[in-house]
Amino acid sequence: MSILSVANVSFSYGEYEVLKNIDADFEEGKLYVILGPNGSGKTTLLNCIMSNLAWYSGIIRLKGQDVKKMTSRERARLISYVPQNTVIDFEFTAREIVLMGRSPYLRFFENESLEDVRIAEECMAMTNVLHLMDKNIKEISGGERQRVLIARALCQDTPIMVLDEPASSLDIYHEINVMDILRNIVREKRRTVICVMHDLNTAARYADYLYLMSNGNIVARGEAKEVFNSENLEKVYSVKSDVIEVDGKKYIVIDSIV
Ligand code: ADP
Repeated sequence: MSILSVANVSFSYGEYEVLKNIDADFEEGKLYVILGPNGSGKTTLLNCIMSNLAWYSGIIRLKGQDVKKMTSRERARLISYVPQNTVIDFEFTAREIVLMGRSPYLRFFENESLEDVRIAEECMAMTNVLHLMDKNIKEISGGERQRVLIARALCQDTPIMVLDEPASSLDIYHEINVMDILRNIVREKRRTVICVMHDLNTAARYADYLYLMSNGNIVARGEAKEVFNSENLEKVYSVKSDVIEVDGKKYIVIDSIV
């Protein structure tokens, strides 16, 4: 059974329909990648899943329960979110930001325990930001901030993690580091990870299952070998491409735009 299901979800900004009858299922122990050109509705879909845009039609279920009927605290114990290009305009240290990941487990005004601090430091070590612990979040680079936010989501320790372009501001070392961490928690802890990303080759390398979006619809879904073919890429991205296979892995080589 799926841990998260999106059934017949539509969403509009005024007259403009951004999501059109989306159906998607997410199972435990799998890493999902959502792809599609700019404006195809990926971030909107994540925001519906996170109940940030709660006026969608259709139904989104977390562990079988309608998310709209859950409290934000109940949701926060099941699903964590790393949004795109977050600006944090408060004077928090990186450590304080990561520790916020523990708040769904604390009572009101309860302080974090030593165990919470240990978990936060472990997550900061995983994403290589432990040395930034006492730095003001406003005074670190975009890529470092992204890794702090990924550490916060890891610290939240939820069965589902949702990340919007997690690698967008990361150098190649940290992109691979973060994607390896996500793959490990999927394999070892049977977590569900859902990432929006643009890089087709990173998606092919890490995704167990892909959703390809265009114009508010899911136009292809499945494993990389099913989704990545020249026809789909031309239809969705308007590019000519070759899909080659090396050691059983798919690589996409873009020739030109159409
Ligand atoms: P993607 O993540 O695939 O790039 P988005 O979900 O961000 O796409 O956006 C889908 C469409 O919704 C785009 O055409 C975008 O211009 C539009 N859109 C996004 N946010 C708003 C908003 N706040 N008001 C009106 N239209 C919006």
